[in-house]
Amino acid sequence: MNYDIIIIGAGPGGIFSAYELSRLAPEMKVAVFEAGHALSKRRCPIDGEKIKTCIGCKSCSIMSGFGGAGAFSDGKYNITNDFGGTLYEYIGKKNALDLMKYVDEINMKYGGEGTKLYSTAGTKFKKLCIQNDLHLLDASVRHLGTDINYVVLENIYDHLKDKVDFFFDTPVKSINIIDGGYEIVCEKGNFTCEKCIVSVGRSGSKWMETICRELDIPTKSNRVDIGVRVELPAEVFSHITDELYESKIVYRTEKYGDKVRTFCMNPKGAVVNENTNGIITVNGHSYEDPAKQTENTNFALLVAKHFSEPFKDSNGYGESIARLSNMLGGGVLVQRFGDLIRGRRSTPNRIEESFVTPTLNATPGDLSLVLPKRILDGIIEMIYALDKVAPGTANDDTLLYGVEVKFYNMEVEVNENLCTKYDGLYIIGDGSGITHSLSHASASGVHVVRNIVK
Ligand SMILES: Cc1cc2nc3c(=O)[nH]c(=O)nc-3n(C[C@H](O)[C@H](O)[C@H](O)COP(=O)(O)OP(=O)(O)OC[C@H]3O[C@@H](n4cnc5c(N)ncnc54)[C@H](O)[C@@H]3O)c2cc1C
Repeated sequence: MNYDIIIIGAGPGGIFSAYELSRLAPEMKVAVFEAGHALSKRRCPIDGEKIKTCIGCKSCSIMSGFGGAGAFSDGKYNITNDFGGTLYEYIGKKNALDLMKYVDEINMKYGGEGTKLYSTAGTKFKKLCIQNDLHLLDASVRHLGTDINYVVLENIYDHLKDKVDFFFDTPVKSINIIDGGYEIVCEKGNFTCEKCIVSVGRSGSKWMETICRELDIPTKSNRVDIGVRVELPAEVFSHITDELYESKIVYRTEKYGDKVRTFCMNPKGAVVNENTNGIITVNGHSYEDPAKQTENTNFALLVAKHFSEPFKDSNGYGESIARLSNMLGGGVLVQRFGDLIRGRRSTPNRIEESFVTPTLNATPGDLSLVLPKRILDGIIEMIYALDKVAPGTANDDTLLYGVEVKFYNMEVEVNENLCTKYDGLYIIGDGSGITHSLSHASASGVHVVRNIVK
């Protein structure tokens, strides 16, 4: 065998697998294969001037490379079982929380020290939410910020680079089962190992589906979350974000009984493009460094869509809606809330005259031509509900960017050790469909290694 263990994917799941191996089993020969670039070479070409929108790089630096999808994220590290994945269903609630706290400690050790840990425990805001039929989920959230998150990754890479063989710009094509282990097939050649940890995240979702089909690993279809990113003056949410930083608020609509939730809140942050398999959607982030902060806060409003028989392709459904916005706007669309309510498109003039200056260069348009009525109605209801706890949310100038889609991988059948039906073949992180966050993905990496070493 070339290696004891091969890890596929250098996102948080892969990185924390490698880290824990270097700590618990330094004698093992470990390699990490990553489709994207090394951290220092990851650069999205959009500069807002020469290149304004996504040009579809072969390897998207936002989604791929050392650090995975989390590298340029806001680095909101949520320590909770209430959202961010269902890892606890496999490994137990206490274990999941302990592992998330352990990863948080490592992040602190490698450059995150001094960043703030926010908590919903004892907040008065919870009562205000319930009084308005809004439900605040419990969590502790460490805000690393895009800048510190990057420093932590740099330091962890420095720690690992001499202990693990990293193969960047090396997408794995397939996995073959061989006598006593696995063969990893890449353009650079074939590599064998005794055990294989697959952690390919969302950008590897299609590849993961193919591998599961080829190896006959059972999967079940999952959900897709569709919605918009809201951007408004930071003052509107400051009483919430100053205390909690990120608040996950859930609302059940009166009209359809659908759940709408806030997601990924970025106080004084910026709205950004996200490229998933060539489809441009919207996301957001913010910096810890005050010099890089903006005057706006952004967050997503998402509606979860689950499908029943015979339709199985929930991601395909989300992609079609995102494609529609890309078709109309050449990328992401932006609309003032007031224009949406009045049934008219936003124009460059109306955006220009708005009191909120967009932080993303998106095409002014009409989101009602893109989002299904049921989803749009839910979002509008939620905006009015939020207006009661954060007055100003439903102002005419509040900006809505669309579409924001959270794709979830098919949930792969694994046991409590995150091992597939093949002994020694593990599937972890967002690629397994079990986790959807930095904290859960990282914790799954630590968990799998502790069981391997045991
Ligand atoms: C813009 C943005 C902001 C976000 N903000 C937050 C946040 O603040 N807090 C939070 O909790 N979560 C956030 N997330 C989600 C978070 O980044 C992910 O949940 C997390 O990164 C998942 O980790 P992972 O290791 O499972 O997968 P990923 O981070 O997706 O890493 C998988 C890696 O595998 C590689 N890969 C894929 N296929 C192959 C292949 N065939 N061969 C080799 N390598 C392959 C990819 O290139 C990638 O680098 C954000 C995501 C984005 C895109």
